[in-house]
Amino acid sequence: MRVGPTNTPVEGARRAEAAALPRRLGSSRFVLACFAPMWLASCGDDVDAGPECAVPSDCPLGGDCVDGSCVQLDAATLDVEGRFPADLPAGFTLIDLGEVEVLSGETPDLSFEASGEVDSFFLVGVGRAGSFVIPLSVRAPDGSEYVLPEAPSRDARQDDYFAGFAGPATSPNRAVGRPRAAAALVPNTPALAMMPGTWTFRLGQFRMTGGVDALGLDDVNLPLDRTMRVGVVLRTQAPPDEGAVDLVLSFHASSGLDASSAAVDPVIQNALGLVDEAFADVGVRVGTVEYRDFGGELPEPLDLQGPSCLGGDVPRVFDQIEPSGGALQLVFIDRFRCEVREGVDIGQNLAAISNGVPGLPFAYRDGVVIATTLKDDYPDDWSLVLAHELGHFLGLNHTVEGNLGVYDNIADTDEENPVDYLMYPNVSESRSTRVTRDQGWVVRRHPAVRPR
Ligand SMILES: [Zn+2]
Repeated sequence: MRVGPTNTPVEGARRAEAAALPRRLGSSRFVLACFAPMWLASCGDDVDAGPECAVPSDCPLGGDCVDGSCVQLDAATLDVEGRFPADLPAGFTLIDLGEVEVLSGETPDLSFEASGEVDSFFLVGVGRAGSFVIPLSVRAPDGSEYVLPEAPSRDARQDDYFAGFAGPATSPNRAVGRPRAAAALVPNTPALAMMPGTWTFRLGQFRMTGGVDALGLDDVNLPLDRTMRVGVVLRTQAPPDEGAVDLVLSFHASSGLDASSAAVDPVIQNALGLVDEAFADVGVRVGTVEYRDFGGELPEPLDLQGPSCLGGDVPRVFDQIEPSGGALQLVFIDRFRCEVREGVDIGQNLAAISNGVPGLPFAYRDGVVIATTLKDDYPDDWSLVLAHELGHFLGLNHTVEGNLGVYDNIADTDEENPVDYLMYPNVSESRSTRVTRDQGWVVRRHPAVRPR
């Protein structure tokens, strides 16, 4: 969510948050593998280092920039520690489906049995470094399609907005992907029923191509046909009516704060108060708050990688994070960079991003990244953004996406007046901290919300 002067366009917010991942479903999707010469460095296993680079976006097709050279990432080992669910408490069960083959960017149909005591579940996929992972389809035991890979009708604006994944993002059980690892809560609205029986789903693993390709097609994404780790977290206890979210706030040196100064920083404290206030109506309060120094090395600014601002350096932040003991991770940096078009960097107006809608369950390499550069100039807006991003992490979508006419799948948010909620995407147009009862139904199902 971005912060800035009034009348700032909403585009930056949606690109950084709601915009899902790269791939345009349809006939064009397989055309491009290893097609253009500029991509060859990421197509063969025999290429270890490529051209010189400063940031990942300098490298072909989602390659990473390491020590000034582009390196091939799809040969990376599948390291899932900290991202795949671990240490589940009583009341949750992990179905570990292991490493699953991905063909043409998709897992096969996978299935599991849910008993009558299952309240809801999270699908989780963890991919390779450089990948984008997205839930593509979910089918309920009665055949209902909760997540659909394809949008009902082709809409170029939606395709652009959701970076090629408009189907999942506009499904009854809205789902979006993320770099490296993604999760989906099912059901993620009280309007959809949980039901016992055999559930079937499919996940995707792609590389974001970053826009127009050599054939003039934009948002075409390449399959990343390496295994991915897949699991299902079943909730078998009712979510808490009264819950708390514990927080770990970690401060990179570039943020201008550290563990000591942040604990007494008035804007930080104001933001925490706003989080507490926003979710109190739905029974969720801020629990323990721990302040840490973040010792990892990060590029400055942190590049989110255009055009959709979802990849780039964000996984690096969480590659270097310490375990949080179940607390939600908030990492503070100086500022973002995201060049959506040549010479157009919207990163400077981005206050924060949640690395997932929802964040990964029972994983500590995930959370919200927050830029402090706007904190002191826009303290109230900045605080509101922090609360808004926690809403994303806990599973809430925007009440409306840009001007697309795409609304959330929550019945008690008013589509006639989507601005009047915390989850409206532009803080410059709305100061609301309102979270509805049905939105509370969603957030209390995230395991980051513990009983209190
Ligand atoms: Zn948002």
